[in-house]
Amino acid sequence: MSFDPHTASALGVERRRARAELKASIAHGRVHILELFDSAEGTTDPVVGGLRVAWFLGSIPGMGATKISRVLERTGVLPTATLRGLRVRQRSALRREIVALFRHYYSHLRGQLVIIVGPSGVGKGSIARWILENHDNFALSVSATTRAPRAGEHSGDHYFFVSEDEFDAMVRDDELLEWALVHKQFRYGTPQFALELQLDAGINVILEIDIQGARAARRKIRHSLTVFVEPPSFDELERRLVGRGTEDTPERLRRLRTARAELKTSGRWDALVTNHDVAEAGQSIVDLAHASIEARAFKE
Ligand code: 5GP
Repeated sequence: MSFDPHTASALGVERRRARAELKASIAHGRVHILELFDSAEGTTDPVVGGLRVAWFLGSIPGMGATKISRVLERTGVLPTATLRGLRVRQRSALRREIVALFRHYYSHLRGQLVIIVGPSGVGKGSIARWILENHDNFALSVSATTRAPRAGEHSGDHYFFVSEDEFDAMVRDDELLEWALVHKQFRYGTPQFALELQLDAGINVILEIDIQGARAARRKIRHSLTVFVEPPSFDELERRLVGRGTEDTPERLRRLRTARAELKTSGRWDALVTNHDVAEAGQSIVDLAHASIEARAFKE
């Protein structure tokens, strides 16, 4: 095939134009920088694969020359390197940097972490299920626990049921965002990796955890929304726990004692929702989540 200078320069112009469009899309958040970065590995798209790393970093709002050169230095990447040409180590080091930058500069595009707390039996589980069934873009974080499955519970649905040794390993390997011994009996913890992945993908994640865990999680995740669900009355809570019939009497008494203590914290969370009706309480939480996302976008 003979070289045609006209075609070659037309191609050059086209690629430059494509790069400029891409830059604008990144700046406006229409293109997800993490997805773009991941898609560059082994791509055949000359525009994406041929992007220079320095240029790519520069397209992230807030990234100036000094910050770019620091990232390049830390990751051992040359300014002239292209996204396609990265070595495995460089790619994973750079990805970690991009994740941190993304969380910082694009926090308004992240999903909303919604932490639902409240006493045992108040209906947190039913409210969370209602939200998942009635609203797209919400997911439930699946906790790990050392308690045994109840009838009808399967590992991976509501919990990952693990042994004490397996839980120890998760703690040791820093896999949990938080964990707690609940009702002085069993350990429960939130797997961090899956949670962050979902938030980065713009999915709103619901955590249904105990109060100690909620305090730890809200400290660790920026812009979390904590919602306390209270029963219409304490008598009603007692009726619901009896009605559920999943606990024996000593266990129920223990949970009621914990509930009394937990109800005293109700004013210390971002919002308070009374569970008169599951759909109504669920919708209130969804509205709060949307308001929180909007407030974040406005602030950034
Ligand atoms: P259950 O055994 O009735 O499913 O849950 C008992 C308690 O454990 C509930 O109050 C629930 O909120 C809490 N819990 C569930 N998952 C987690 C978790 O990942 N971390 C913490 N800290 N508490 C959890």
